Amino acid sequence: MSDLLPPSDPRDPATPSSPLLIEALPAKSAELGGITIRRALPTRKRRLIGPWCFLDRFGPLTFAEGKPMDVAPHPHIGLQTVSWLLEGEIIHNDSLGCEGLVRPGELNLMTAGRGIAHTEETPASNSGRLSGLQLWIALPDAHRDTAPSFHHHAELPTFDLPGGRATLLMGELNGHRAQSLTFSKMTGADILVDAHAELSAPLDATFEHGVLLIEGDAKLEDQQLQPDTLYYLGPGRNELSFRSGGGARVMLIGGPPFGESILIWWNFVARTNEEIEAARTDWQEHRRFPDVMAYRGERLSAPSFLPRLR
Ligand code: MN
Repeated sequence: MSDLLPPSDPRDPATPSSPLLIEALPAKSAELGGITIRRALPTRKRRLIGPWCFLDRFGPLTFAEGKPMDVAPHPHIGLQTVSWLLEGEIIHNDSLGCEGLVRPGELNLMTAGRGIAHTEETPASNSGRLSGLQLWIALPDAHRDTAPSFHHHAELPTFDLPGGRATLLMGELNGHRAQSLTFSKMTGADILVDAHAELSAPLDATFEHGVLLIEGDAKLEDQQLQPDTLYYLGPGRNELSFRSGGGARVMLIGGPPFGESILIWWNFVARTNEEIEAARTDWQEHRRFPDVMAYRGERLSAPSFLPRLR
């Protein structure tokens, strides 16, 4: 019996359990600025995947007139917003005076830091189509108070992978690094899997990851990916592989487990009820968050605040 190995510790990433953890997190429907969205993050079970704390999927939809997206001025603190389109256009305006029209393949990245207000609208000149994602990234405690900023990235790193290719929005993947502003380690990539192909991508084994099928059909290992379902992959993976029959498009997010407890209320990411209450009061009383001068219309009013536990 002397040749028996000691029992492995399931908490030790060096000895991953087999099979590696995959959790399916179905998205929930909600209304936002006139359109129905599917919210895949946060869920009751998972608040964060790395620093990623929010994921909304909207569309695809077709419209003949008006603007399906019209989100009036509202504030944010403690996060970055990532706007990523598959079809159509959105115009962003904010309290810094920045304007950014985003189209498919381009990134709108807003860093709220200590406070910003913005609007998102379908522009008057549009394609009559809308499909995309909005994600939030929690800022680590050391950078939550950073100055607000807005960046539009028309060019992003794209590279081939065996069986397809990737566009890198945020952080790192496969030895590539995006130029977009980050405050902690992460990955955020849009991955195309060729028809009748198996795609593999190397992963940082210290990261946890999330995978969302956005178009087509794909299997993650032996699991057929369902639409509007976020798949959580625990740390300890060196590689990810997808197989597709007709081709697929998949969003990959991830990062090291965040390690800080966050509190999300309305459009605020904070740590305490007091911070949220202060941000809410500042918004309602026209402090901290200047007006979005480019927007014609009323700002959104914050809901009533009921303190909650984490
Ligand atoms: Mn917003």
